[in-house]
Amino acid sequence: NADLRHVDVVLCADPKVFLHTDALQGLKKGGAFVWESNEENPADAWNYIPVKYRHEIIEKDIKVYILNGFKIAKAATEREELQTRMQGNAFLGAFFRVSSFLKDYNIPKKEFEETIHAQYVKKFGRFGDDVVNSNMTVMKAGFDDVKEVPIGKLDAPDASNFVGNVISPCGIDIIAPPRDKEGKSPIHTLSAFDAEFRAGYGYNQPASPLASVGYIASGTGDTASKYVARRAIPMFIEENCTQCMECISACPDTAMPNTAQDISQILTTAFKYYVSDGFARNALLEHLDDLDKKLRADMYAYATDKELKKNPDDRVKFKNILRKHLEDLKSDVIDDKAINQVLSIVETLPLAYMSARGIFAGKEKKEAGDGGIFSIFINDKCKGCGECVDVCGDHEALVMIVEDEDWHARVKSSEGFFKLLPETPKKYLGIYNPDDPYEAKAAALKNHLMQQSKYNALVSGDGACAGCGEKTILHAVASVTEAVMRPLFFAKAERLTEKVAQLKRTGLMKLEALKANDLDAYNVFTRTVLHIIMGYGAENAKATEKRIADGFDGGDAEIIDGLVAVLSQEAYNHKELQTLEGHMPNGMSAMAMTANTGCNTVYGSTPPNNPHPYPWMNSLFQDGTTIGWIVGESFIRDHAAHAVIPERLVDTLLGEFEKGFDEDDYFYYTHFSDKFMTDKEVLELPKVWAIGGDGGIGDIGFQNLSKVVLQNRPNVKVLMLDTQVYSNTGGQNSDSSVMTGGFDMNQIGPATEGKMTEKKSVAEIMMSGHGSPYVAQVSAASIGVLFRALIDGLHYRGTAYYQAFTTCQPEHGVPDDASEAQAIRVRDSRGMPEFVFDPGKGETFPEALYIKGNPNYQNDWYTKRSKGTKERFTYTVAHWALTEARFRRHHKKVSADKVEGKQELLSVLQNVTMQDIVHHRYLDKNHRSYIPDWEVYLVDHTDDGQVNHHLLSRQMVIFCVERRKAWRMLQSKAGIENKDYLAQKEYLKGLDA
Ligand code: SF4
Ligand code: SF4
Ligand code: SF4
Repeated sequence: NADLRHVDVVLCADPKVFLHTDALQGLKKGGAFVWESNEENPADAWNYIPVKYRHEIIEKDIKVYILNGFKIAKAATEREELQTRMQGNAFLGAFFRVSSFLKDYNIPKKEFEETIHAQYVKKFGRFGDDVVNSNMTVMKAGFDDVKEVPIGKLDAPDASNFVGNVISPCGIDIIAPPRDKEGKSPIHTLSAFDAEFRAGYGYNQPASPLASVGYIASGTGDTASKYVARRAIPMFIEENCTQCMECISACPDTAMPNTAQDISQILTTAFKYYVSDGFARNALLEHLDDLDKKLRADMYAYATDKELKKNPDDRVKFKNILRKHLEDLKSDVIDDKAINQVLSIVETLPLAYMSARGIFAGKEKKEAGDGGIFSIFINDKCKGCGECVDVCGDHEALVMIVEDEDWHARVKSSEGFFKLLPETPKKYLGIYNPDDPYEAKAAALKNHLMQQSKYNALVSGDGACAGCGEKTILHAVASVTEAVMRPLFFAKAERLTEKVAQLKRTGLMKLEALKANDLDAYNVFTRTVLHIIMGYGAENAKATEKRIADGFDGGDAEIIDGLVAVLSQEAYNHKELQTLEGHMPNGMSAMAMTANTGCNTVYGSTPPNNPHPYPWMNSLFQDGTTIGWIVGESFIRDHAAHAVIPERLVDTLLGEFEKGFDEDDYFYYTHFSDKFMTDKEVLELPKVWAIGGDGGIGDIGFQNLSKVVLQNRPNVKVLMLDTQVYSNTGGQNSDSSVMTGGFDMNQIGPATEGKMTEKKSVAEIMMSGHGSPYVAQVSAASIGVLFRALIDGLHYRGTAYYQAFTTCQPEHGVPDDASEAQAIRVRDSRGMPEFVFDPGKGETFPEALYIKGNPNYQNDWYTKRSKGTKERFTYTVAHWALTEARFRRHHKKVSADKVEGKQELLSVLQNVTMQDIVHHRYLDKNHRSYIPDWEVYLVDHTDDGQVNHHLLSRQMVIFCVERRKAWRMLQSKAGIENKDYLAQKEYLKGLDA
């Protein structure tokens, strides 16, 4: 209802609307409120209205209605992406039933239905009668099924929070208290932000400095709940989980924090925090070792029982094993109440050991007592996209279930328990060494997400669409940067702390010794410290000396104190600083992000839920990359002044001026830049990620990108989230859009068949004529390759540019759970091949460019084996296009007999080259490259075993030719000889002779 203040009818498709907004705002006296609800009895719906809104309903004489619109929509279509639209149709019907519109204009029901039908024909008629009729059925069901909710009692039970019984830890506060609060100006505190943006002001939001400059507190999304946004949530089937980490790296909403813990840790946490009686608690803790051994013995027996593993039963669940052994401990002290308290919290926990061999049985076999438990704590930030279930696939360890109030209570209970657990111990990270991620193999890199400090590098809780492919990539960028940088920061903090201690012990003595032995060196050294570290610098040495003489009245002790202060502060910043209130101190941010306007800035900057826990800023439209460069330069400058130069001066002092210190050194340090930094000093620089969509980076921001990449700055990394379309503004073509076009805002018809310009490949452009950047075109299709490329780019002493295909669910027309599947399809079809260009590997393209991650990398196309039919077939971009609704106007499914006499796609492609397209010979009926419209077909094998025939638009065939040419170009740069291309050339030579 937004700005409107005198609304007759509010249609509300959100059953949990009162949890996050005032749904009655703007509704006029006597108005109607139609509310999505699955209550059979309308009177029961009253209990879900919060008491304060019950008052308002009575006072304003509002009529409340309920409608199970989602049930109606589900019955009409199985296609999830259409169900929301259908739900809207049902509400449309309800509107005409509850409003006075038909009565006011004296419209009989028959005429009303005929009018609506005519509108549906106009809008959907081209899709056929079935589509029109189905919309009509849904609309009529909405009209017929809407029911009025009788006014209930003000003090009727209040179930409006939609939560069952949450089990909470007893008597502890698990939120880290704010540190250094006194040192912050009030505007920089979370409480100032919350008082403005989380105080329920709604329409009456105050105009304050925060609002006027678009300032939003960091990481606030962490405490957001997406309960209101989801209908279903994954249920973890613990006995099937192998700890493959696929779901965890794919989840776009950081809703799958996970850990492996010792069994004793799980038990200790349950006993300490969930058993209310102190005697029972202590008695249980006394039995811990014994219990641990007994549990392990049973668990190992189950986990290694081959027959049971094939078909596990309830016995194997951790909670049931625990129940059995706790019963044996029952006594006057460990009574039923204590046992039930333990079991009721354990009941909510996702505890996997049976199939998680790397965590339990494998370790236990090597050393008894070493195995642990793996858990995925699906939390309240889940938007219910189902992506995790899709990628889990045959493991069958996740399944979507409708989340009722009891299940939500379970989610909240386990979330509380998780917060009490420590960081995942190193021994469970396998061959991934968190202290040196650079050395890890690509396949092991997923395990960095088992560490909460890395997993939470992006906190989500934002308003991106469910399943948005951009978020998975953003999470990867933030978590890998954190994984690379945090150990460097901690090591640096320790190194500096050690030097501070040495400086305090011997610094003064060494400085005095220098004064006694070499007065010139002493004078230059102290001037250097005072100039750079202590703020007495002027435009030249003489002026600096004057400023020092006029303003500095300290001596050697103060010089040493200055060095101690700057290094101590730097050490503190790198390890102890608390950047986020409510989170444990973990040191300063390792990265910043600057963004071009696009979807990422909309969901990334809309109060109150900010997904970014590091400094983040948006610069309108095209400037994000340039702003990133500026931020990167400021990091270099600060890093030089606060860390590199002071540390080097301290090293010189502690090393007793082995190489002396003269005016050249003064000049060197006062003109210091990153070019004088060692590789290690550069690596320790905080990184800046400039991000944007294909429009922001590749179109209007292209000049910015080109300029920035050419600078090759060591700490500036750029990421394009390539949805191939302007997602945020509703689906216009970008230069990255593929050749069919035909998205929501394209014209397509007999005269205009689609987008005739070829796809612009910014990643390929950056490989050439842009100096020496590291370039990678990677995606969620291969998460190990993505992580590896991110690590290598962060280590590269120059700019790195990444282009990642990301699904946009509404604009691509794909289901919420399809992000990874579509990334695989676009890669495998040559729609967007995967490649890495590492200039460190050599000075020719074949040395620097790696494309072998693509299937059949030596051929035109991938020969794919169908999961369903088990047959092999050639997989082209046209096959990928069949799986996304954005291409729907370019193919038609037909029965096999309808393709008789038509031409098969591959044989047509054999006759056409890209030059035939450029010269428009494909339109010449007499030329060998003639492409008839809708006379070419392909055969597709679906995953569920169907063999389908599709007729293709001419534009779709052209799209295949264009992508094939782009792929051949890429192959040739990588030094790959494509025999299919050579064969085609020979064949055409014969035809053209
Ligand atoms: S359903 Fe989606 S948001 Fe929820 S846990 Fe799975 S992948 Fe994450
Ligand atoms: S739930 Fe499935 S995808 Fe996730 S770690 Fe377990 S087996 Fe892998
Ligand atoms: S519109 Fe597309 S890109 Fe934007 S948030 Fe939704 S899915 Fe993501």
